[in-house]
Amino acid sequence: MAINKPVRTDVLGIPVDCITMDGAVDYATRLIDENKKACYILAINPEKVMALLKNTSLFKTFSSAELLIPDGIGVVMAMRWLHGLETVRVPGSELMPRLCAMAAEKGYGIFLYGSQEDVNHGSAEKLNQMYPGLKIAGRANGYLKEEEMPELVKQINASGAKILFVALGSPKQEQWIQKWSDKLDVNIIQGIGGTLDTIVGTVKRAPAFFCRFGLEWFYRLVTNPQRASRQKALPVFAWKVIKEKVKGKK
Ligand code: UDP
Repeated sequence: MAINKPVRTDVLGIPVDCITMDGAVDYATRLIDENKKACYILAINPEKVMALLKNTSLFKTFSSAELLIPDGIGVVMAMRWLHGLETVRVPGSELMPRLCAMAAEKGYGIFLYGSQEDVNHGSAEKLNQMYPGLKIAGRANGYLKEEEMPELVKQINASGAKILFVALGSPKQEQWIQKWSDKLDVNIIQGIGGTLDTIVGTVKRAPAFFCRFGLEWFYRLVTNPQRASRQKALPVFAWKVIKEKVKGKK
């Protein structure tokens, strides 16, 4: 049976899919069951929308993704407001453990690539405790040299992993995926940014209250002011969405 692709819409011209968390897990599972190769899942948030508007090559990389999850509340609000879509947030940091749970249940191996060695190693241990039976087919930290990449690709393919998580931060992880995906035998590749850091606890996720009210970005800004420069994109994003809405009403 053909796999139905989720409906792809856009925010300010940047593609994003209308999908729920369960829908994303189900879609990824079917891609594995049908042995589709190197289908990649990337996250869209306001910061990325702003970056993609300025970078054509990165835009092309994102446009080729199998799944573009609405990771940030700003993107979800824009999808609702500009297109009237009943859509919800699918945070990449929550999808990753959901895919691990599915992999443990189905006996699919995963490969963890990225983050500092202690974080990478620690998250493998933690994931094993969280999902008994999860097969960590392989792992590698995110500080390998460029000349080590062909060896890493061989290691990933030899591991037999079906899901590869790439934790190099954005846009490095997306550029890595673009460059190497057609050499990879895995079925699914997810770009997961700093998710391994949150799994081991070196970086805390926002408390439930902030997540519930879509204020995770605010919690991050207050607890990690070094990120403030990255969040400068937020007001510009909001302003562009308002302008787009006004334009649409004329
Ligand atoms: N990282 C890496 N190799 C690099 C640069 C970064 O493995 O050359 C890792 C870093 O250790 C961290 C993650 O990438 O675990 C970046 O996390 P961040 O929260 O900045 O990513 P975001 O989700 O915001 O893109």
